[in-house]
Amino acid sequence: MSQTSNESLFARAQKTTPGGVNSPVRAFRSVGGTPRFIERADGPYFWDAEGRRYIDYIGSWGPAIVGHAHPDVIQAVTEAAARGLSFGAPTEAEIEMAEEIIKLVPSIEQIRLVSSGTEATMSALRLARGATKRDKIVKFEGCYHGHGDSLLVKAGSGLLTFGNPTSAGVPEDFAKHTLVLDYNNTAQLEEAFKTSGNEIACVIVEPVAGNMNLVRASDEFLQAMRRLCTEYGAILIFDEVMSGFRVALGGAQELNGIKPDLTALGKVIGGGLPVAAFGGRADIMKHLAPLGGVYQAGTLSGNPVTVAAGMATLKIIQQPGFYQKLGAQTQKLADGLAAAAKAAGVTFAADAVGGMFGLYFAASVPDSYAEVMKGDKESFNRFFHKMLDAGVYFAPSAFEAGFVSAQHDDAVIDATIAAAAKAFAELG
Ligand code: PLP
Repeated sequence: MSQTSNESLFARAQKTTPGGVNSPVRAFRSVGGTPRFIERADGPYFWDAEGRRYIDYIGSWGPAIVGHAHPDVIQAVTEAAARGLSFGAPTEAEIEMAEEIIKLVPSIEQIRLVSSGTEATMSALRLARGATKRDKIVKFEGCYHGHGDSLLVKAGSGLLTFGNPTSAGVPEDFAKHTLVLDYNNTAQLEEAFKTSGNEIACVIVEPVAGNMNLVRASDEFLQAMRRLCTEYGAILIFDEVMSGFRVALGGAQELNGIKPDLTALGKVIGGGLPVAAFGGRADIMKHLAPLGGVYQAGTLSGNPVTVAAGMATLKIIQQPGFYQKLGAQTQKLADGLAAAAKAAGVTFAADAVGGMFGLYFAASVPDSYAEVMKGDKESFNRFFHKMLDAGVYFAPSAFEAGFVSAQHDDAVIDATIAAAAKAFAELG
């Protein structure tokens, strides 16, 4: 065993970094215990500081769709790095990346590259507000769109009152412009537009929600959203930072056939390096500086090394059969886990969309935030630790989706299901 333990690293990290981590969910607060400090990763696996191997089902929270350290991606990054790390002036690689995304996501006519999903959604909101000259926005409870001030907001006291901050440091004055509604509640959405439709700049939604576990939006809900936005002149923003290139090559919008006005992307398009983007209708995008009055910028936007990782990833995912195989493996995992739980008499359900999955300690797959919250968190936490002990790393929270990569082959999925059968039997 290596000299360094996860525990000693965690103790050391806490001296210099709040909570010992650079993003809160990594701290294992929800499930308890010591976070694993990762030393390296390859294909479907990563290894912690103690040399233990785990089957990885977080995939860096979505980006690692082709598996870790894919040779094509590493080669592209290495070659780009050798030519210089950052120029602060435009490159041909950025044009190629924009052309590639526009080819794959038909609703996107123009695009701008940024460095994180938070920047993408935050910039899309500013653009929507600038283009419509309206301040109010609509979001849905349980959807996460990064940590921009206007988006860290929960529902107000009344059904259709504007929101309250969910984070200290977000002024009430910002939150009061955000209306937070129930996901998949079409009647409530209709009501909100009837009351405030002419003041709403945009509706932002995860068309497959992956931040309250996995919850699918109903067709009826998304169709109503599209119709109401058009009717009232509001901009429909699909936040596909997680679902983009994850649930299908064209994202959730390919699956549900609905054309948003703007789309936010991230995660997969950077292949593990910091690339995100927002794009959509050219008549809206033209409001961005330097053409229009909506300011948005970034020192490292379109960085040559990160864009190289993204382009290499976008090439791999376009190989014939990529999504069929990814979807089949993810479904096999969900079905296998559900069957193992049933055999052990554990109340459990699972769902999969493309390369994303949800695990629920509940009798059925939830369709709203309220349903997700009713799940048995204690059972999830026990299951999580049993699986971790068996070398399987699921998201360390009952409220996060999971991710499968193209390197999760039959042997990996079978090993996961066998470990889960044992864990469920111990839980039951
Ligand atoms: N939007 C969605 C749907 C996300 O899942 C995330 C991150 O998980 C974000 C936005 C924020 O992206 P980032 O963490 O890159 O800022």
